[in-house]
Amino acid sequence: MSQLKISIVSLGSLKYPINMTYLEGWKSRIINVSHGASIAHLPDADGSNWEYTREQLSGLIKDDGNYNFIIGLISAPLEHNYYMHRLGDKIAVLSLFEMAEIVRLYDFTIENYMLRNIYELAVLYKVNSTLIPSDMYSWAHDDVRGCLFDMNANKSDIVFSLHQPKICHACNARILSNQVDAEFLPELSKDLKKLKKSLYFLMAEWVKLHPVLALIMAALSATSINLISSIIFEKSKAIFSWLG
Ligand SMILES: [Zn+2]
Repeated sequence: MSQLKISIVSLGSLKYPINMTYLEGWKSRIINVSHGASIAHLPDADGSNWEYTREQLSGLIKDDGNYNFIIGLISAPLEHNYYMHRLGDKIAVLSLFEMAEIVRLYDFTIENYMLRNIYELAVLYKVNSTLIPSDMYSWAHDDVRGCLFDMNANKSDIVFSLHQPKICHACNARILSNQVDAEFLPELSKDLKKLKKSLYFLMAEWVKLHPVLALIMAALSATSINLISSIIFEKSKAIFSWLG
C-alpha cells in the first residue's frame, strides 16, 4: 500500500507553537507528513468579517507537484466559520481559529487536531484520488458519532472525534463500496487508535469521574506503602541489630 505524501504549509503567524517534528515523525503506513513551504506574511483578509475566502486562499497556496495533497494551516477564520475547507483536488486549508482554544480546553493537542483532520482528508483522497469528490457534501453527517466524518457544525463537537476517532458503520460501508486497498481499513483503524489524549489527562479524567473510588485507592495505597515499610524495617532490624 502506498503512503500518501502530505505537505503542511503554514500561513502567516499561527499564534501557538506547532510541533512539526512530532507530525513528521508520526508512524503510519497511510500518511507521511512533511512541513513544506510557508507563507510568512499573509495579505489582509478579503472577507467582510476578517475571514479568508476560498478564492483568496486558492490564490495563495500552490501545488508544487511533489505531494499527494497540501494542507495550508492558518490561525485566522475561514469563510462561513468552517474550520476546514477543501480548495481543490489537492489543496485544503485547516484553521486554528477558535479550534486551538477548544482542543486545548479539553486537554487535547493541536497536533492531535491536525492529525484527525489529515486522516479525514486521507480517507477522501484514498477513496476518490482527489480531495473534492463529486459527492463531497454527502460524506459528512450531522449526527455526532465520534467518526472522522462528523460534520461538527457546532465546532466544539470536534472533541468527540479527537480521542481514538472511528469510522462509523455508514462511512465504513461507503469506503468499502469503492476500490480501496485491502489493507487500508485495518491500517486506518490501527492509526486512529494511536490518536488519543495523553495518559496524564486520561488519568485525571478517570479521577474526576470516580472521585470516591480514587480516594479509596489513594487511602489503600498509602496504607500498603506504610505496611510494606514496616515489614522492611522489621526484617532489617533482624539482620542489622544496631538498627534498634
Ligand atoms: Zn461516519
